[in-house]
Amino acid sequence: MRLAQRAQGIGASPTLAMNARAKEMKKQGIDVLSFTVGEPDFNTPAPIAEAGIAAIREGFTRYTPAAGIPELKEAICAKLKRDNGLEYAPGDVVVANGAKHAIYNALQALIDEGDEVIIPAPYWVSYTEMVKLNGGVPVIVPTRAENGFKLTPSDLKAALTQRTRAIFINSPNNPTGAVYSRRELEELVQILVPRDVVIISDEVYEKLLYDGATFTSVAALGPEVKDLTVTINGVSKTYAMTGWRIGYAAAPRALAQAMANIQSHATSNPNSIAQKAAVAALTGSQEPVQQMLAEFARRRQRMVTGINALPGLSCGTPEGAFYVFADVASLFGRTLRGQKITGSVSLAELFLVEAHVAVVPGAAFGDDRYVRFSYATSLATIDEGLARLHAVLSEVR
Ligand code: GLU
Repeated sequence: MRLAQRAQGIGASPTLAMNARAKEMKKQGIDVLSFTVGEPDFNTPAPIAEAGIAAIREGFTRYTPAAGIPELKEAICAKLKRDNGLEYAPGDVVVANGAKHAIYNALQALIDEGDEVIIPAPYWVSYTEMVKLNGGVPVIVPTRAENGFKLTPSDLKAALTQRTRAIFINSPNNPTGAVYSRRELEELVQILVPRDVVIISDEVYEKLLYDGATFTSVAALGPEVKDLTVTINGVSKTYAMTGWRIGYAAAPRALAQAMANIQSHATSNPNSIAQKAAVAALTGSQEPVQQMLAEFARRRQRMVTGINALPGLSCGTPEGAFYVFADVASLFGRTLRGQKITGSVSLAELFLVEAHVAVVPGAAFGDDRYVRFSYATSLATIDEGLARLHAVLSEVR
């Protein structure tokens, strides 16, 4: 069977694929320690899960409005006002099947064939592929470790063309953990607004901040910025709800309406039960979020110290999210158990096969000199994983 061009150019999401591979090896009885997928290892807090159970018991199991139930849209508007200083009305909000789907909807509604979308690298693996699936052209703009992996105004200016339609801003960033300050964001939007570039602001790691880092929502920088911004968020990372699949976009009304229409044909509403659970997450006690954050903070410290003690690896201290992006380039060209380390993919493969430690190669995020460790996993796993890596890396020649 002949597949469409768009399907021929696309592989599975590398984060999900690496996670699936680790799980498959575990099923075969191999004791793999996984630092792959960015997925909190905590259970969904009980009051949220109970709201889902209650929804089933009450028979809240039918179609809902395609863009989400009014109750959830109102809870999202209240959250955006309370946490981010943003005024959105329920008609500006589209609840989707995860933040990933909300981004996809936005691209569907915005991108024409050949439109360019600026993606600062390192980037989350799905941005580039989603742009391509929608006929757009990803324009990758590398950032530098010495700038904290943040896009600079001059690099942004150099990347803009007549065809620039949109840009991704992802703060806190996956995979680097970089958090843009308000000032840094202001400098970028001052360039973007006069050019009418739409800003897709992926704020899904908003609550995962350390060492006093503060979060600024891009749309909060002014009304003219808000008119060009799609704010993306979801409950997966903040409330340990990855499997429930609830994300959302808040956008100027015409764009939100277009996204809602598109979604109504593609998937209809997001899961009715999960929507009720998301209402409980956003309106209930935020104490569980603080508890999870405190645990992530402990793990981050252990991870950063441990990685910097590994032969050949180094990393900075990320300000947000739950990833460490470790520089592994000093190992390239060297040999481990008879195999040459040629890049991040071959190193990740060696980690998996020789140490039974799964990480995601930096190449998947647009920078081959790194590998990504997710520390959304227990301290015991972190300690054991780092010990295994130390043992194999000591054999690098
Ligand atoms: N965003 C998470 C990650 O980067 C979840 C998996 C995915 O959708 O890529 O690991």
